[in-house]
Amino acid sequence: MMENDLDIKNAHDYTFISDKQKGLTNAIQYHVEEAEHRHCLRHLHNNFSREFKGLAFKKMMYAIGKASRIVDWQKHMNDIQRLDANAHLWLSGMPAKRWSRSHFRCTVKCDVFLNNLCETFNKRILVARGKPIISLLEDIRQYINERIRKQRAACHNGNEIEVYHANGEKQVVDMKNKTCTCRKWQLTEIPCCHAVKGCKYRCQKPEDLVDDYYTKDTFMKYYNNVLHPPLPPEMWKTYEFMPIITPLYTTKR
Ligand SMILES: [Zn+2]
Repeated sequence: MMENDLDIKNAHDYTFISDKQKGLTNAIQYHVEEAEHRHCLRHLHNNFSREFKGLAFKKMMYAIGKASRIVDWQKHMNDIQRLDANAHLWLSGMPAKRWSRSHFRCTVKCDVFLNNLCETFNKRILVARGKPIISLLEDIRQYINERIRKQRAACHNGNEIEVYHANGEKQVVDMKNKTCTCRKWQLTEIPCCHAVKGCKYRCQKPEDLVDDYYTKDTFMKYYNNVLHPPLPPEMWKTYEFMPIITPLYTTKR
């Protein structure tokens, strides 16, 4: 039984993404009916493109898949209807909840609509797949183990991180000494965008690297001194000095 093999307790919390293989679709439908089942958009497009060829169709289909709001999904569906009523009919036959972000559940925190993840994994275990079952499983275990080790290391090690902008510009962040070659971090003691990227890489919170200077506690300290209102004049202290008079002045000629 699929749900037993995968130890699935609450199917509603799970999402499967497949290449729309009939056996898998039936199995998911039968054994874990409550789970979300997505179809890889690339594979869906392969089928679609047999009838509807060309870049325009492809772009429109991907726009429908990428749309994260129902209104955008509807707009792109209308666009394709204007282009070709049959293409629209074909796509309408595919439930949107299977391939458009606009209809995906928010519970799993994942907007993936392509099977790249599985394909990368399959490619990685290509050699192992030719081995007997125990050796195959051992190879996969080693690969997963190594991956976990690398990901953990990325979270904890390395103080200097190179950050590249989309335009190719590079900055070097030193997470230990709280500096960046852009100098914005040193100037303000608030992590610059490169440092924020470094935090993400090391699984750190950027807020934790903001200087104490900016904390609420420090802010309260600035304004801790209270200015007391003066006493009424009749209660003022008197002194035996001459009263203060206006200074003498001469006019320049
Ligand atoms: Zn920077």
